[in-house]
Amino acid sequence: MLLGPPGSGKGTQAELVAHRLLIPHVSTGDMLRLAVARGSELGAKVKALMEAGHLVSDDLMREVVAERLAQPDCLKGVILDGYPRTVVQAHDLDAILGDHAQFLVAVYLDVAEEVIRRRIVGRRSCMQCGRICNIYDSRSCCGPRCDVCGSELVQRPDDHDEVVTARMVEYAEKTEPLLGYYRKLGLLRICNGDLDFPVVHEEIIGLIESS
Ligand code: AMP
Repeated sequence: MLLGPPGSGKGTQAELVAHRLLIPHVSTGDMLRLAVARGSELGAKVKALMEAGHLVSDDLMREVVAERLAQPDCLKGVILDGYPRTVVQAHDLDAILGDHAQFLVAVYLDVAEEVIRRRIVGRRSCMQCGRICNIYDSRSCCGPRCDVCGSELVQRPDDHDEVVTARMVEYAEKTEPLLGYYRKLGLLRICNGDLDFPVVHEEIIGLIESS
């Protein structure tokens, strides 16, 4: 699993790491956003909480994750991104995984807070193909349209400045304690997420492969 504050780059890294290791990228944020976009029953339950930057309940998340991890494509392992996010969820994950919990590795992307704020508030995503770029990063595209498929780039509702503050507070209160949880179990690996993207990527791969 990848752990890290909102904007630490874990979503993008998780996707690439999963692609490289040929295993599924299981992002609870993406799953919930898809549910909202589809207007499903799950989407209706989580929409307001997500838009306010609050966490969805542990019980609901346990159901969502248990169902996903029971799919056959997850048998050889997955990259978990965005789950667990509370210590209760970490216990739930242990229960969901059963004997497989012994193979967990928790890679923490350590990133300075000011870097995070620029990354999140400047982030734009393509509604069509999912490409992500940043208006403060001249190396990533950033006109009003996606340079891959030409669709409109939008700011996620939960990336607005005031919502980012709410997400940071939730992160500090509820998610940071996970670091202690996994450290005690000897499963925590720390990666300097301030470095350039390809360097961080190689470090994550190295940490997973050596565990
Ligand atoms: P993310 O894309 O991982 O930043 O997730 C976006 C939003 O989805 C979060 O701000 C939460 O509202 C919700 N969410 C995603 N994963 C979880 C989780 N494990 N527990 C509770 N809420 C979650």
